[in-house]
Amino acid sequence: MIKKITCTICPIGCKLEVDIEKNTVTGHTCKRGEVYGIAEVTAPTRVITSTVKLEGGIYPVLPVKTNGAIPKHLNFKCMELINQIQVKAPVKMGDIIAENVLDTGVDLVATRSIKKG
Ligand code: SF4
Repeated sequence: MIKKITCTICPIGCKLEVDIEKNTVTGHTCKRGEVYGIAEVTAPTRVITSTVKLEGGIYPVLPVKTNGAIPKHLNFKCMELINQIQVKAPVKMGDIIAENVLDTGVDLVATRSIKKG
């Protein structure tokens, strides 16, 4: 079976065709696309970007993201966790907001600094 996907590693967005039985990829322009194509049909992962509630800051929410990709099937659980988090200002970009999210070894980090309000 062939699965058609778009490589999202870089803005070129090559159209990949992954042969799921043979574990082969065509349509990629570079090795990263081949690796992405195989991973996407075998163990898809995603970097999660979102916001958490921020108390006492100049803004009411803090943008965050996972500092690595987590298995796609954990996306929903990860969003549930993120929705429960509340942090206090000030926060510096790169601060760890939650360690080892869902035992993935990946942390949730702040993607901007926000001062006390
Ligand atoms: S295959 Fe390579 S060049 Fe094409 S989108 Fe993916 S990373 Fe970019």
